[in-house]
Amino acid sequence: MALAVCITCGAEKSGAWRTCEKCGFDPRSSVPTLVKSVYLSIDRYEELDDRESYKNELDKIAELIRCRKAVAYDQAELSRLENQYYEVQSAQRHELWTAFQKTFLPGLRILLAILLAIFLLKLMKMFLL
Ligand SMILES: [Zn+2]
Repeated sequence: MALAVCITCGAEKSGAWRTCEKCGFDPRSSVPTLVKSVYLSIDRYEELDDRESYKNELDKIAELIRCRKAVAYDQAELSRLENQYYEVQSAQRHELWTAFQKTFLPGLRILLAILLAIFLLKLMKMFLL
């Protein structure tokens, strides 16, 4: 039973994001192909029961693709998966920015404090001499 199926040739894959070993198709080449690839994998379900029962469904879909028949993608489900993809992307960007701030902000503050101190010392020297 398949864990994921290639959207172009119907070969079994171990994960939705993986490049197909049979036809070489890379699902990450565009968002729509990635979304369809997730659709044709057990990763679209969180519950273990759903994942298990979808494996049988995937075998049937794989057969359809191998016979060059059209897969009837559920548009609402495709939209849901696409939104999920963009939510994950935006969460990752937010985490990256937070990590950047945590790493560099303390150093920048110290640098600014030193520069301010130097500036004040120079100012004092100007007035005292
Ligand atoms: Zn393939």
